[in-house]
Amino acid sequence: MSTPLSFVRAWSEHRGAVVEAGQEGVEILQPAELATALGLPEHARYAEQPTPGALWVGYGAPTLERFLQEATRHVPWAALTLEPHSAPREATARAAAERFVLRNAVHELEGSRLSTGARLVAYVRYSLSTDDRRDGLVEETVSVSQRVSVPGFWRAAGGSGALRPAVARPAGAALEQAARAALLRAEASARAQSRAFLEGSARRQERDLRRMEEYFHGLRAELDKRARRGKLAAEDIALKAGAIERERAGKLQELKERGQVRYEAALVAAVWLEAPVAELTLRARRRKAECSLTLEYDFVTLHLLAPVCAACGLDAPQPALCDERLHVLCVACVPRAEGRWSCPACREPRADRGE
Ligand SMILES: [Zn+2]
Ligand SMILES: [Zn+2]
Repeated sequence: MSTPLSFVRAWSEHRGAVVEAGQEGVEILQPAELATALGLPEHARYAEQPTPGALWVGYGAPTLERFLQEATRHVPWAALTLEPHSAPREATARAAAERFVLRNAVHELEGSRLSTGARLVAYVRYSLSTDDRRDGLVEETVSVSQRVSVPGFWRAAGGSGALRPAVARPAGAALEQAARAALLRAEASARAQSRAFLEGSARRQERDLRRMEEYFHGLRAELDKRARRGKLAAEDIALKAGAIERERAGKLQELKERGQVRYEAALVAAVWLEAPVAELTLRARRRKAECSLTLEYDFVTLHLLAPVCAACGLDAPQPALCDERLHVLCVACVPRAEGRWSCPACREPRADRGE
């Protein structure tokens, strides 16, 4: 049974459904309340492949997506408020904002405001797969309003104030978006934690590539030898050389696909924590254009949070701004900010920015 189908089966059983596995998938009778929450019929057959009369739950299937959404709604989590030992100082936040660096623009601080900011401390189970697979667990904290990392937050939180249960429990879109931001950012930690695994896989990839090239080199050398001896007609030689080249290209593609690292992640537990922050408004100028940036200063880690890169969605400390629309862009997306360059965010509008 495929992973998605066995997940649907086990999870439904766990939630009180009646499950019967047959040859062509699994028949499930969901409790009425669960069926409503899922937006699925109470009684249905589920299949690994698109099949008439059954709901498809393979990878990428909308029905599977509904199950996953419902399952992740029940991630165990706590909501806390942090009461700081010392009062946050607005001047500290303002000084950090003034030191903030835009690589190709100037800025001035327009305003600041002390406030409370929500953090989502996410425990993320991940799997990295290449020709082999590695699973692990990492922690990633994000600012809920800014959707960027707050490095070192959870470690610093205990020492910087008293933690008390929060009165209001967060829910809805903000929580979901913050969780998504955490899952995206956890990939870097997952890769760092799996360095030896990834290096091993890269070494095997290189070795396979070398062996493959040796093999095709041998084939070509053999063909050359036969050609020199005059044993083959010119068109035969061209035909055979073409066939070798096509086979090599196919194998190369296959190797590349096998060597790609796939990252999958899910939230397993989370802490929602409200802590003191400062909201800072900056006016940035690039050539003749101007824009306003809102940044958050975190009083637990004493750290000005980076803005979000408009191209890759990751954090952009020391961002550059594009000429056309003043998109904020990270160093990985735009390594050199001087002169004219083509903006990756202008080239590929993203749905989640409403473009
Ligand atoms: Zn980027
Ligand atoms: Zn742009």
